[in-house]
Amino acid sequence: MNLIILGLPGAGKGTESDFIVKKYGLIHLSTGDIFRSNIKNGNALGIKAKEYMDAGQYVPDEITNKLVAARLQQLDIKTTDFILDGYPRTIDQAFYLDKTLLTINKPILVLYLAINEQTVVDRLSSRRVCLQCGRVYNLKFSPPKINNKCDIDNQTLIQRSDDKAATIKTRLQVYKKETLPLVTYYQNQGLLKTIDANLENDKVRATIEQYLLENDNG
Ligand SMILES: [Zn+2]
Repeated sequence: MNLIILGLPGAGKGTESDFIVKKYGLIHLSTGDIFRSNIKNGNALGIKAKEYMDAGQYVPDEITNKLVAARLQQLDIKTTDFILDGYPRTIDQAFYLDKTLLTINKPILVLYLAINEQTVVDRLSSRRVCLQCGRVYNLKFSPPKINNKCDIDNQTLIQRSDDKAATIKTRLQVYKKETLPLVTYYQNQGLLKTIDANLENDKVRATIEQYLLENDNG
């Protein structure tokens, strides 16, 4: 069982990926991690990717595709299944991924976390992080015990610039333009499962578990 997880920023891709990884033993592959490990190894494409990341830009498809393909081709195919988070992000990336999957003979399923835009704006704009320990809070859904202070180390929580209202709007626009076509693309291939991510977290999980159970047997 190999998965791609899609959804607007703030739909819970990271959280649900973590859950799936723990429960089913898949490897979590995110473009961020793949870039970081290539940068660390001093790989030429990794260094190129870093230039874009440092400039706050998306790494071009050409570089991203090659790095993700190389990572997938390194996997021990017989024993390792994966979940891709943050890739593919565009239709061109999806075409490239299809070719890569053929070379490693891995079928995929796609989970789409569908969520209302307003819910995303509410969730992201109330998100706060602790720079000291990296813990993420949500003022509405998982607030700290003491107002605006980290439960673990008492540091003052901050709002990341990514989570400010104007930036959220821009991220949503980019996502809708570039990534939503993937939903149609995978739907047309019969690979897509839409999950209502507006629901309570345990309901979202129950739907995911049910779906994965059905498909694991089949
Ligand atoms: Zn902290």
